[in-house]
Amino acid sequence: MTAVHVPGIPVIEAGQLVSTSPATGVEAGRLPVATDVDVRQAVDRARVAGEWWAGLGFTGRRDRLLRWRALLAKRIEQLAEVVHAEGGKPVPDAIVEIVTAIEHIDWAARNAGRVLGPRRVRSRLILAEFSGHLEYQPYGVVGVIGPWNYPVFTPIGSAAYALAAGNAVVLKPSEYTPAVGQWLVDSFAEVVPEQQVFTAVHGLGDVGAALCRSGVDKLAFTGSTATARKVMAACAETLTPVLIEGGGKDAMIVDSDADLDAAAEACVWGGMTNAGQTCIGIERVYAVDSVFDTFVDKVVTRAGRLTVGPEGADIGPITMPKQIDVIRQHIDAAIASGGRAALGGPTAVQPPYVHPTVLVDVPEDSAAVQEETFGPTLTINRVRDADEAVTRANALPYGLGGSVFGRRRAVAIARRLRSGMASVNSTLTFAGMSTLPFGGVGDSGFGRIHGEDGLREFGRAKAITRRRARSLLPSMTFERTPTDMARLVKAIKVMYGR
Ligand code: NDP
Repeated sequence: MTAVHVPGIPVIEAGQLVSTSPATGVEAGRLPVATDVDVRQAVDRARVAGEWWAGLGFTGRRDRLLRWRALLAKRIEQLAEVVHAEGGKPVPDAIVEIVTAIEHIDWAARNAGRVLGPRRVRSRLILAEFSGHLEYQPYGVVGVIGPWNYPVFTPIGSAAYALAAGNAVVLKPSEYTPAVGQWLVDSFAEVVPEQQVFTAVHGLGDVGAALCRSGVDKLAFTGSTATARKVMAACAETLTPVLIEGGGKDAMIVDSDADLDAAAEACVWGGMTNAGQTCIGIERVYAVDSVFDTFVDKVVTRAGRLTVGPEGADIGPITMPKQIDVIRQHIDAAIASGGRAALGGPTAVQPPYVHPTVLVDVPEDSAAVQEETFGPTLTINRVRDADEAVTRANALPYGLGGSVFGRRRAVAIARRLRSGMASVNSTLTFAGMSTLPFGGVGDSGFGRIHGEDGLREFGRAKAITRRRARSLLPSMTFERTPTDMARLVKAIKVMYGR
């Protein structure tokens, strides 16, 4: 019997996971669902492939990863169409996402050897007769679990860095975007046909859970904080280390000396790109009293111009149909508790679309301020000054990114945000800067992808000392004499006793 397809809701049909466009219901992907045994076998195969891959060294891997990057660049429109067909994301948003992923592959490939390769480290006087050596060795097999909202950028943010570090990767894409995940691993296999270094297993959340228990050497999870807790619990059974990129509720602060046109433009982009379904999307704005009204007007004007629809519009459908209820509840509750819709509001929710909505003066304890809304909605609240803005921005358990618009105090304010990242006079830009680490604090997770920290996340530090001379003050031996120890004590007092 063939299951009925509700647009955007994945179904399993005869052992196949079927994904559909949330806008049209047209089938986008059909991939075999992995059993627990399949997942384990994929990891076992990846372990063999990983040894071969690690053996290629940094240069061999760099060449292959750069060829993969080139393939993605050549086929960027094709991949953007797959992302659009499966998740409903407007093609220009998909292209921006893929461009960012390509940049990360390039940087990770080119810099892995420098960041992770063997190097001498300085020894200290206390062990001057030894040299120190450090390198970061691959874990083996890294499991990557990804969400649907950035089905290229998020898995590649972990996978490209893990691969560059010498690991094999088994990806479990979101059930909403399996075709995109399969496209990524298939394209990789075109440039690395020898071994199954980067593969995917498909299915619902239980397949992700199976991957956590499959014997992977590290698990990189990107998704909601609620699922992150389950992932950590499963990985705890085998002490499998985890990297957690969780949810967020990022705030933007508009200070009194901000360029309000630039702030409004960035706010609308940061809050409404990808229909607001962005972990680092701007969901809350705190504007200081002196600029509040002008800023809100500018945001409303710009957001009011955005088009909504299946093709060629600025805002596409909400990818996960059940999220529409959450968005509706947040809007309704904000208004019921005294907030005002400066744009949109309850009527903006027209499944599978949500039209741009700007809510002002929303009580801070409202769900629209406290929880991920994941729609093209913004709350903008008035604050006395930047200090109050920082206090409110920092009041939630989440701490992913954030944004500050202003001149004199902007960088200082950005540093005070309790978050892993911040953009000054822009929004979301830190995600595309491959030289910077990406990750959160608190409920937004821990560990880092991207940049040097992102490479080190996928390598085990290996420390080696090597004797290069006889010890003048032997102490770590039973051959030591009372005189040696007396000399050592004297030396320590001279060196550190002041
Ligand atoms: P989910 O947490 O629902 O799912 C994430 C992934 O985990 C999916 O592949 C899912 O599979 C899988 N999964 C579900 N249950 C389990 C389980 N028990 N064990 C292991 N894996 C499981 O998140 P969404 O896909 O809805 O993504 C949106 C969330 O991701 C938002 O909270 C967003 O903020 C966050 N996010 C964070 C980013 C960051 O970098 N910090 C970036 C992008 C998004 P399935 O889909 O089959 O259920």
